[in-house]
Amino acid sequence: MLFGSHLSIAGGMVNAINEAEKLGFGTVQVFTKNQRQWAFKPLEEGPTKDWLDGLDRLGWRERTVAHDSYLINLASPKDDLWAKSIDLMREELARCDALSIPYLVSHPGAHTGSGEDAGLDRIAAAYRELFRERPDFRVTLCLEITAGGGSTLGRSFEELADLRQRIIDRAGSEFGNRVGFCFDTCHALAAGYDITTEKKTEKVLQEFDRVCGLANLKVLHLNDSKGALGSHVDRHEHLGMGEVGEGAFACLVNHRKLSGVPMILETPKGENEDGVAWDTVNLGLLRRLVRDDSGGRKRVAASMSR
Ligand code: ZN
Ligand code: FE
Ligand code: FE
Repeated sequence: MLFGSHLSIAGGMVNAINEAEKLGFGTVQVFTKNQRQWAFKPLEEGPTKDWLDGLDRLGWRERTVAHDSYLINLASPKDDLWAKSIDLMREELARCDALSIPYLVSHPGAHTGSGEDAGLDRIAAAYRELFRERPDFRVTLCLEITAGGGSTLGRSFEELADLRQRIIDRAGSEFGNRVGFCFDTCHALAAGYDITTEKKTEKVLQEFDRVCGLANLKVLHLNDSKGALGSHVDRHEHLGMGEVGEGAFACLVNHRKLSGVPMILETPKGENEDGVAWDTVNLGLLRRLVRDDSGGRKRVAASMSR
């Protein structure tokens, strides 16, 4: 399994790689710049080289993940915000290309009153522009399922599949492999998908496969949820300590078709009462849930848990 965590790039992008390695992860997710600011400084040569050297040292070129800025809203009916969002998304894509990051996870957007159809169309029109400008880019845009609060789009598998198809229809079928999905367990539960047991999660994954295609699932966000099933509340919790519970994670980490998919923790940071980093605690739980082929829990993995 390819476990990772969202880690800070404070002090230099490569720090996220080094921290991920130290914590025992096999990949990492980052914001490639401040996620709450429109302004950004261009990528600098030195830090970019350090990042690429870090990837090469660990053999991570084809597996890291970036998350887009929270400010971007490509579904906005307001022309100024839409244009600003396109400009920032252009930079997000360019950074992934320069940093050799294969996956960019993105919140689809919010229609803010214009309606779902208009919102989805707006997003598709934006990617038509962005993809056609740079057909040479290889980064895959991963549309993330949302908790579905307010007017946010991407709250159901049908809506995600609809959006992906609209983007491909507008931009051109040659961009089909540039658009995939990110499944976030906290968001899915909050959106109303019952993943509260291993069996139920398997059923939800089958539904995802039917509607969106498991082959298009490029990134998993493993988060437990403070918000209840169908609450539309997006608040992440430590694994096994929220409304999702261990079952969903047991299903995902043992799923044969997901063995190469980056599984990223976006759980709270800091340390537990014993002074153990929460990332270590959550990673330990994931390792403990991995079964060997005979169906039992792995002995080595168990010894590494909390
Ligand atoms: Zn996200
Ligand atoms: Fe997420
Ligand atoms: Fe979230």
